[in-house]
Amino acid sequence: MAINPALLAAVQKLQAGSYSNQDDNKEDFWRCETDSAGNGFAVIRFLPAKSDDQLPFTKIFDHGFQGPGGWFIEKCPTTIDKECPVCEANGPLWNSGLESDKGVVRKRKRRTSFISNIKVISDPKNPQNEGKIFKFKYGKKIFDMIATAMQPPLVELDAGEAVAIDPFSLTEGANFKLKIRRVEKYANFEKSSFDNVSTCDIDWKKLFDLSVYNDEKMFKSYEDLKKRFLKVTAGGTAKPTQMSTSTSDMTEEDDNPFDNAVKMNKPVTTASKPAVTSDDDDDDMSFFRSLAADD
Ligand SMILES: [Zn+2]
Repeated sequence: MAINPALLAAVQKLQAGSYSNQDDNKEDFWRCETDSAGNGFAVIRFLPAKSDDQLPFTKIFDHGFQGPGGWFIEKCPTTIDKECPVCEANGPLWNSGLESDKGVVRKRKRRTSFISNIKVISDPKNPQNEGKIFKFKYGKKIFDMIATAMQPPLVELDAGEAVAIDPFSLTEGANFKLKIRRVEKYANFEKSSFDNVSTCDIDWKKLFDLSVYNDEKMFKSYEDLKKRFLKVTAGGTAKPTQMSTSTSDMTEEDDNPFDNAVKMNKPVTTASKPAVTSDDDDDDMSFFRSLAADD
């Protein structure tokens, strides 16, 4: 199957390089290469943050959609609690009552992803990556697996079928067996799992500083984004095409496509949260913040 090179470039930019500045090379990001059937396998290790005052992941929002005037592939300023013209325009559209408008919002809505440092343990498709440290961009499905590993269901804990682990620990963490299968046309990660607890050696100097993703300089101004948004959407709300990426779960629909009403920096109310049952990904954030606060 021939893939439109412009589309491929746009998808790759979105997957890895959309956070481009001089400190952010595409080569710093690792991706699990899939075969022609869309299946892939690798073993990776999530790593601690570069410094104690940081979390071992950063949460980011971005937009990627096509309108009559081209592609809109931009970081969403709500990542740093700033206003975003796209998210702003989504509100009235979502509430218009028209199903077609809701469809437009689903394409345009911000998508949640996470970036962590990882060490590649096994990469059959690209063995030259093994032993090296990369940045890894992943979606909510994998983030949920991390959260569940830290707080397994009580019934499994009681039965001795599970132990809580800190996936980012070098001494008490575990390797992550990443298994990608193409289901329908989407990448599916549900067969992935953490291995048994093991230790991991790294060169700390090779860890990437993830705080750059919350640097205001990384984001375009509201005015520039608005200009671009108006250009891309000029000519009405012609059906935008959603990107489907083969190695990312970032395109999966959330139950609430208009979740930007939730602020990221809400205060942590309790350190002991029950197992994650909510679809509200900001709850996970509070959980990790509470861990960081305990240090
Ligand atoms: Zn936005």
